[in-house]
Amino acid sequence: MARSGADVAQLIETGGLRALLYRSRRRTLSIQVEPERGLVLRAPYGASPAALRDFLERRRAWIERQRGRVAAQAAADPVPRWVDGELLAYLGERLPLRIEAGSPASARLSGGAIRARVPEPGDAEQVRAAVERLYAREAARLFPAYLAECLALPAAGGLPPPELRVRAMRSRWGSCDTARRVVTLNRGLVRRSPELIRYVIMHELAHLRHRAHDAAFYGLLARLCPGWEGLRAALAEVRP
Ligand SMILES: [Zn+2]
Repeated sequence: MARSGADVAQLIETGGLRALLYRSRRRTLSIQVEPERGLVLRAPYGASPAALRDFLERRRAWIERQRGRVAAQAAADPVPRWVDGELLAYLGERLPLRIEAGSPASARLSGGAIRARVPEPGDAEQVRAAVERLYAREAARLFPAYLAECLALPAAGGLPPPELRVRAMRSRWGSCDTARRVVTLNRGLVRRSPELIRYVIMHELAHLRHRAHDAAFYGLLARLCPGWEGLRAALAEVRP
């Protein structure tokens, strides 16, 4: 997926469309609708303001559709506010967050809830940090077992077991370094159902044999993960 280019943004506006403009050494124009920044336009250094406005105008219908999709995602998968009683995602379920005062800061799973203990329960940043550490621990605990399950499938026979890395990733669910045989998973996947986690793993495993998204790749993915199209669609409904 795309990542942000140069970091200095300008604002550009045309007929009610306002976009953050990032210029870089790229050769083409691209537009994205993001949940937090809104409309993001990436352009070559030399592109004229008129060309940029024209580009936005021609994509107006697409932009409106994307805005609808982003709004639907935000409704289905709200950004956490880190307050007592709200529901937080864990393995595809929504567990209540319970916050109590105490130190040192920590969070654990107990009795069907995510229980956070922080010095100042009203401080969302303290709660967020404690729960993110819990998510990281759970991802490190669970993902190797999911990987082992996937490798044990008959269709995975002969695939070399990769090194598994788990880390926070901004815009992708996983990646595969085919040459080094390293599969990296987004630790945020721990909020998604085991089926979706296994689907991401199987996608990356298929890359161990087929680097490109070609017919051979999808053939192997279909043997590893029948019904993967539905899982991909479900994953597209939520943010990494
Ligand atoms: Zn891929």
